[in-house]
Amino acid sequence: MLIDNHNRKINYLRLAVTDRCNLRCNYCMPESGIDFSKKDTLFTLEELSRLSSILVSQGIDKIRITGGEPFVRKDLMVLIRNLSNMKGLKDISITTNATLIGPYITELKALGIKNINVSMDAINRETFKKITRRDEYDIVYDNIIRMINEGFNVRINFIALTGQNTQDILPMLALAKNYNVCVRYLEEMPFNGGSRHFEGNTWDYKRILSHIKEAYPEYEEIPSEATSTSMNYRIPGFKGTFGIIPSFSRTFCGSCNRLRITATGDVITCLYAQPSMNIREILRGESSEENVVKQILQAIGSRAKTGFEAQNRQEGTYTNSMTTIGG
Ligand code: SAM
Repeated sequence: MLIDNHNRKINYLRLAVTDRCNLRCNYCMPESGIDFSKKDTLFTLEELSRLSSILVSQGIDKIRITGGEPFVRKDLMVLIRNLSNMKGLKDISITTNATLIGPYITELKALGIKNINVSMDAINRETFKKITRRDEYDIVYDNIIRMINEGFNVRINFIALTGQNTQDILPMLALAKNYNVCVRYLEEMPFNGGSRHFEGNTWDYKRILSHIKEAYPEYEEIPSEATSTSMNYRIPGFKGTFGIIPSFSRTFCGSCNRLRITATGDVITCLYAQPSMNIREILRGESSEENVVKQILQAIGSRAKTGFEAQNRQEGTYTNSMTTIGG
């Protein structure tokens, strides 16, 4: 079992399979993109499977595949097939922008994948285009509806962006009224790869909730898992639910069970921390299994207690992009 230096069990791996993305969300990276990693610095799919298997043997039982956009990797299904056969792995989830997932939905369902998080920061087509700098609204919307109808547990991640999309907070909730989907509102974080200056957040979780409360005063809180980062709610008469994630306010660090590994092998023990080390060459070297475990134990043995502590350890402002970290 993986236990960190604050006695928290780590059983959830967020595995980025690429840092590339076909969208250019303005709160994530500059229009021109970032300095994307060269191919030989990325794990191969075989390496990602092997790394996952080593970590599952140590007690990881949930893996979320993320990126960049995971489906930019044409061979992604090879990894998902391997994971779906991995003993001890109880939950394989995916975070995607849903632009490229269409051809894989049937197989994902057949493999038993249930949980798909889709980023969609606007229900208005023009706002979506402005934020993502791409004209992909229809395909994203259609794939979301298709996945809901196919029975996936779909959660929509909506980042509340001051001056950009907060007028869509309530209209977006209409999806949860009509469909069995969870719409989750997140606070913006400072990981935008230099896309813009980030000072803080005027739309924090309290403001988002009170905005929703004004329209739906009858909403009720529903129980969440102890390790959940979202506070979850139901509005009477709605088929779906909604959630709010204080990702910048960081009220949930005490129960954090996550480990992040980037597509190039950086091990990140807190979103707000610098990578602890890089595992790629260790995985490629001799006695890799033993050495990977040793390094991972070392990394989680010196985790910051909270995102604020991690931030205090950091010099200067953040320059990295979420497309590298994986969200
Ligand atoms: N391409 C996939 C997607 O769009 O969901 C996965 C990668 S994306 C980097 C993961 C998540 O990070 C998305 O939900 C995205 O909205 C979120 N994200 C990116 N930059 C962010 C920022 N600066 N603040 C908060 N969330 C951010």
